[in-house]
Amino acid sequence: MTPRFASVILDVDSTLSGIEGIDWLAAHRSEALRVRVTQLTDDAMSGRVTLDSVYRERLDAVAPTLAECQTLGLAYRMKVAAGAADTVRAFLDAGVRVAVVSGGLYEAILPLAESLGIDEADVHAVRTFHDERGYYDGYDLRTALATESGKVTMAQLIALPRPLLAVGDGSTDLAMRTAGEADAFAAFTGFITRDAVVAGADHVVSSFAELRALVLGDAS
Ligand SMILES: [Mg+2]
Repeated sequence: MTPRFASVILDVDSTLSGIEGIDWLAAHRSEALRVRVTQLTDDAMSGRVTLDSVYRERLDAVAPTLAECQTLGLAYRMKVAAGAADTVRAFLDAGVRVAVVSGGLYEAILPLAESLGIDEADVHAVRTFHDERGYYDGYDLRTALATESGKVTMAQLIALPRPLLAVGDGSTDLAMRTAGEADAFAAFTGFITRDAVVAGADHVVSSFAELRALVLGDAS
């Protein structure tokens, strides 16, 4: 069966893995920081405030060291969504291009993506800078991914083969479809269900098995 989509863009936090990376890092610092950062993330992902307005505040408050980014990478892999590895492999075997587009941290996301067989060139996330001792030294302020429309801009830039399916749990994922940079959007509810995102979705999938059936057909 011919796949229904030539490309799939996957979100990471609460989609490929059951972790919100920045929240996870904050929780390892202090309870107060965890509460503050979790609230900011939820506000942004629910579309109550723009990601632009909270991204820098969140990341500078957490200021992750390189070692913490790497530990987060391990945590992402520990909490990888059930069936994600099989589904990504099936997509790649069927000739479907798989890309990761995330507002999360590149240093942590790359090992997860590579463990799933996704090409490094298809991994798009926010790069952090660290000094020679590994301390946080800011992030790539030029990246569009730290903004509300960042995934739209990135999808435009990487111009993957169409038709393209965007998959994720957040408003920034849905935005790719709304802007016409994706031909369809599947809300992933395996970890969290955001009503405003589900309401705008073409499809709702609660597992990677369902996502696989959506893209490759039930017979695969
Ligand atoms: Mg997400």
